[in-house]
Amino acid sequence: MRRDSIGFVVVVVLIALVGGGCSGARPARERPSSVSTPRSISKPVVTATVAPAPPATKKPRPATPSPTRRAPVIKDPVLVRNKLYGVGKVRAAACALPADVAKSDAALTSYGKALVACMNRAWAPLITRSGSAFRPAKIVANDTGVCTEPPSTAFYNSEFETICIDWDSYCVENAASWRTVQLQTDLAHEYGHHLQLLTGIMDNYDLDTPSWAQLEHERRLELQASCLGAAFVAAHRNALAFTNWRLNEWEQIVTTTGDDNAPTGPRDHGSRTSYSYWNHRGFRSADPSSCNTFTAAPGWVS
Ligand SMILES: [Zn+2]
Repeated sequence: MRRDSIGFVVVVVLIALVGGGCSGARPARERPSSVSTPRSISKPVVTATVAPAPPATKKPRPATPSPTRRAPVIKDPVLVRNKLYGVGKVRAAACALPADVAKSDAALTSYGKALVACMNRAWAPLITRSGSAFRPAKIVANDTGVCTEPPSTAFYNSEFETICIDWDSYCVENAASWRTVQLQTDLAHEYGHHLQLLTGIMDNYDLDTPSWAQLEHERRLELQASCLGAAFVAAHRNALAFTNWRLNEWEQIVTTTGDDNAPTGPRDHGSRTSYSYWNHRGFRSADPSSCNTFTAAPGWVS
């Protein structure tokens, strides 16, 4: 993971100050080979300096993509006509969740497991309807089990179909409402990558993509994961206790997160405008049919 050294110092200091039952900061290591969370500048502010590393890339990229070249139109039917787009709305599944996430590893772990179990129940019938085989996703803390990548806030390990979470990232501020909604949003996004894996999208999204166009395809993948996540969140407003204040918190997160927050980082998750657009599309419809980023004009996935 590429980590800003100043930001890392800030995080270490903050974690040392707040304590509160979360494990301490860990040393930075090299970049992960998984699909990470978008860059947030919502609370805590320090997350802006701890930008998650980009997804793994199999091909070299130019340092500065040409602004005049457009990626080829995507024709792969797995991407543009995936049956996931036709399965219908996400229906609310049974979810037993605590009201808020307390600032401790134990509380975060417990909440995360309960929420992923809920996602497994909600998405299973839709994946089956799409004609793909459903397998539940797992969730574990970074640095344990198969989550041996560096401490990004959250990422999806497609090899082991596991969402990895850095609990410390959620412990840097005494804001239970932010912590809860940010965790809900991040887990819903990472689960979106699980859906992409189950439906073949993740395996196909960068096939035959010229290296100079890869960033656009990565943004399509990431923005779709966010859209699918928002569809889940919308269908589970009651279970997630999306009262007005929590909805405001979600609005704050989805309108302030984006690649713009890390000007020197790769443009691989989408701008604030794009991130907000696809989150709102998914939230308004609660239907994967709204999440076909692979047929969207480039301006919608900037
Ligand atoms: Zn992602």
